[in-house]
Amino acid sequence: MQNIIRAIKNYFETEREGGIYEYLLSSGKKSKETDISLLKSNVLECKKCPLARSRKNVVFGAGDINAKLIFVGEAPGYEEDIQGKPFVGKAGNLLTKIIEAMGLKREQVFICNILKCRPPGNRNPLPEEISQCIDYLYKQIECIEPKVICGLGKFASQTLLDTETPISRLRGNWHEFKGIKFMPTYHPAYLLRNPKDKKLVWQDMKKIMAVL
Ligand code: URA
Ligand code: SF4
Repeated sequence: MQNIIRAIKNYFETEREGGIYEYLLSSGKKSKETDISLLKSNVLECKKCPLARSRKNVVFGAGDINAKLIFVGEAPGYEEDIQGKPFVGKAGNLLTKIIEAMGLKREQVFICNILKCRPPGNRNPLPEEISQCIDYLYKQIECIEPKVICGLGKFASQTLLDTETPISRLRGNWHEFKGIKFMPTYHPAYLLRNPKDKKLVWQDMKKIMAVL
């Protein structure tokens, strides 16, 4: 009897170590909270691409998992890597102001990035890093089921829309990502360098507000 109990215990312990998260994630629909927290614990341990070696923290994303609106940026920068939170540096402060101007709080939307780990020196994400990481974002979107996705800048917008059209032509028009309304706009870091384009972003945000 003791042996059988020990065998069962061993079996479950092995399962826990060996990809139990993958198993749970793939097995039907559970609650949103469970899905997202299992996904998060998976992502926080991820070593699929070389960025795992240089990062300080994984930046999973933050906000309301029942949000109607998801903002997707490029990748964590210096501050985000240190704090493990998305958009907390200078560009993040501007994003917070934009969200508040829309009559929302940061905690009412969900904010994340294409890459969950910082590329050294904030260089552009490499195609192979994007292809290793992108499934995490797809799963986040699938769990949250937002009404609108806002792509912040060229990387997020071109990646999710699978196009090379420049952001200057994508922005301001409605697109679709897996049946969800998708609005590309300029990245807040770009706005810090080109403040005259803030009014264009505001036009794009008004289009989002009209459908939320
Ligand atoms: N820029 C991004 O694209 N994402 C962040 O989280 C911070 C800066
Ligand atoms: Fe994993 Fe994405 Fe981080 Fe690469 S960037 S280690 S794929 S979480």
